[in-house]
Amino acid sequence: MTIKGSCCCGGVRFELFEPPAMVGACHCSRCRKVGSTVYAYVRAEAFHWVAGRHLLVRYRPKPPFSFNRVFCKRCGASLGDPDSGRVAAIAANCLDMQPSPSPDFHEYAPDAPAWDVIPETERPYGRPNGE
Ligand SMILES: [Zn+2]
Ligand SMILES: [Zn+2]
Repeated sequence: MTIKGSCCCGGVRFELFEPPAMVGACHCSRCRKVGSTVYAYVRAEAFHWVAGRHLLVRYRPKPPFSFNRVFCKRCGASLGDPDSGRVAAIAANCLDMQPSPSPDFHEYAPDAPAWDVIPETERPYGRPNGE
């Protein structure tokens, strides 16, 4: 099976060759500010860029944070951190699959603002102060 994904303008496109191994929602301020808070995790071997690599820009945070942020420089879509490790962390907002997967876990849940409501049926975990 192939799952397709793309940025808002369609210039960046990618494919997954297997379903995400897990999906996690992050409620930290960094994810909130870059506009992507749910990530689908897939083995790096199963992730493939199809088009638009020339449109990618990368923000590397200062330590202790290490999660890179990849964006489309034309439309600003946040794509997650798809290609910097053995596991691709793909912003779920860019997946074209339907139905979109729901989170398997929540992290930095105590940092969630009031408008970021975590369903009671889902078990949050994580420590606060994920600045
Ligand atoms: Zn774009
Ligand atoms: Zn986060």
